[in-house]
Amino acid sequence: MQASRASERARGCAGAKPPASEYDVVVIGARCAGAATAMLLARAGHRVLVLDRGRYGTDTLSTHALMRGAVIQLHRWGILPAVIAAGTPPVRQATFFYGGESLSLPIAARDGVDALYAPRRYVLDRLLVDAAVAAGADVVYGARLKELNRSATARGRITGVVFEDESGDVHRVTSRVVVGADGLHSTVARLAGAEVYRAGQHTTATMYGHWTGLDVTGYQWYFESGLAAGAIPTNAGEACVFVTVPGQAFTRVFAHQPDTGFLEVLSQMAPDLAGQIAHTSPVRLQGFAGHPGFFRRAHGPGWALVGDAGYFKDPLTSHGITDALRDAELLATAIGQGSDTALADYQEQRDAASLDVFEATEAIASFNWNLTTVRPLHEALSRAMSREVKQLLQTSAPGLFHNERSISGP
Ligand SMILES: Cc1cc2nc3c(=O)[nH]c(=O)nc-3n(C[C@H](O)[C@H](O)[C@H](O)COP(=O)(O)OP(=O)(O)OC[C@H]3O[C@@H](n4cnc5c(N)ncnc54)[C@H](O)[C@@H]3O)c2cc1C
Repeated sequence: MQASRASERARGCAGAKPPASEYDVVVIGARCAGAATAMLLARAGHRVLVLDRGRYGTDTLSTHALMRGAVIQLHRWGILPAVIAAGTPPVRQATFFYGGESLSLPIAARDGVDALYAPRRYVLDRLLVDAAVAAGADVVYGARLKELNRSATARGRITGVVFEDESGDVHRVTSRVVVGADGLHSTVARLAGAEVYRAGQHTTATMYGHWTGLDVTGYQWYFESGLAAGAIPTNAGEACVFVTVPGQAFTRVFAHQPDTGFLEVLSQMAPDLAGQIAHTSPVRLQGFAGHPGFFRRAHGPGWALVGDAGYFKDPLTSHGITDALRDAELLATAIGQGSDTALADYQEQRDAASLDVFEATEAIASFNWNLTTVRPLHEALSRAMSREVKQLLQTSAPGLFHNERSISGP
């Protein structure tokens, strides 16, 4: 199916075409984790329904920088050409600014990747939803999960969902598995009783906006004692610029005058960038006050979690989307195997693949470093990401999920 027709179907589902009453899998959440999982399951022949309380093709809180693992997934799934066709600029180097010193690293061409990308979420999530619909999934927006259905006989196994549509009508759908891809404050996790078994200690707070006409080359990451910032080229000739402070400083720095707080912090780290921004029209800033990282139990009888719903880490290392795309494939593989044991294995694989990046993120998010000691932390993160990519390349299921044909762009 052409991408444009897929878009129509995703949009048109809300209210226009009621979903069926029975599916193999219901996925709650239609962003990077949920749409990718649904796409892979639908490609493997499962009947899939995706529900999201939000809207098709919209933005969400994120500075949206992809790391190599995410670009590999998009490449293998045949979606990268559409990301590029949407005008997402290639990122061919990453520059780290440590006070007055800078270190530029080229993005090496390997594993089918010769550049990184930072698509806006209204681009990336929409393309993944379009690909899910093109593979046969039903997608309903404006649909809010209310309840999980449980079997009275099979030890409380989840057997489907109850959701409310935009008109307030309530629908009951049965399924073999319910996937919670509904983000940090996951309703599926709460209703299923998914406990947190490992929690992070540190939080950072971020304020960011998007500007056109800035002089930004590749990913630019800035570090000062107790502060961080970044500039990320993205669609429509814009760059996303963010500043980050320890979580406990959010109210003091940003709550009263966010624009002033933003520019003051940026001026300390990247005066040239701050100067360029000071001469542009004000843009709407987005803020995130911080949340500790966690690993939640990711499976139970008839349910599973993917993306931020099951595993969250501080956004300072820009890795949530990359992890979500990796875990979408691990989970789709496990659901395809069709047993509770396979879902338990999925959690083990997720944790084994995530732990190094989680710990490196915790260390960087602690701000318990100076301009000398932060460098080995970045090197540790880089090694963790290399291991992650190696593992990703070993665990793929090409015949099942990978689409040699590319999804066409907008
Ligand atoms: C400030 C900030 C900056 C970040 N920057 C980066 C970055 O540069 N790179 C990176 O890789 N990651 C980044 N992240 C992390 C990244 O945004 C997340 O990891 C990613 O969005 C997780 O995707 P997801 O699909 O799991 O969940 P989400 O993107 O949160 O999507 C969840 C979806 O579930 C839906 N939903 C929720 N509850 C219900 C319900 N009850 N019924 C129906 N639908 C529901 C929501 O409408 C939403 O569409 C950042 C995060 C923050 C906060």
